[in-house]
Amino acid sequence: MTKTIFEKIILREIPANIHYEDDDIIIIDDINPVAPVHLLIIPKKKIETLNDLNDVDAELISNMFQAAKKMATKLGIDKSGYRTIFNCNEDGGQTVYHIHLHLIGGRSLAWPPG
Ligand code: 5GP
Repeated sequence: MTKTIFEKIILREIPANIHYEDDDIIIIDDINPVAPVHLLIIPKKKIETLNDLNDVDAELISNMFQAAKKMATKLGIDKSGYRTIFNCNEDGGQTVYHIHLHLIGGRSLAWPPG
């Protein structure tokens, strides 16, 4: 099966600016940031979309949000605020089919999204 761009980053086949890594997740800068802070929290386990989540993934998803919270504090946007987003499938704007949590902040973000 073809590797996603994130699998290639996890395997160090292509470079990325890595903020954090453990056995289960990796956190990188988005290559095309939409705000001063735009990180991607990516599980090493390949799950194509949110629709493919199973009960066994509950701890993994929780860990991803805990990691997002810690990164927000570390980068100093916890008080000003930030947004966490999983895009799902075409209407959700998903372009990489390996789930990832966007952490976006460092400026005031509009709502609702376009
Ligand atoms: P999605 O649209 O699937 O929710 O988000 C995919 C994100 O991955 C986009 O924000 C896009 O800028 C980012 N991205 C795509 N290719 C690369 C890459 O090669 N390196 C990094 N760091 N981010 C990427």
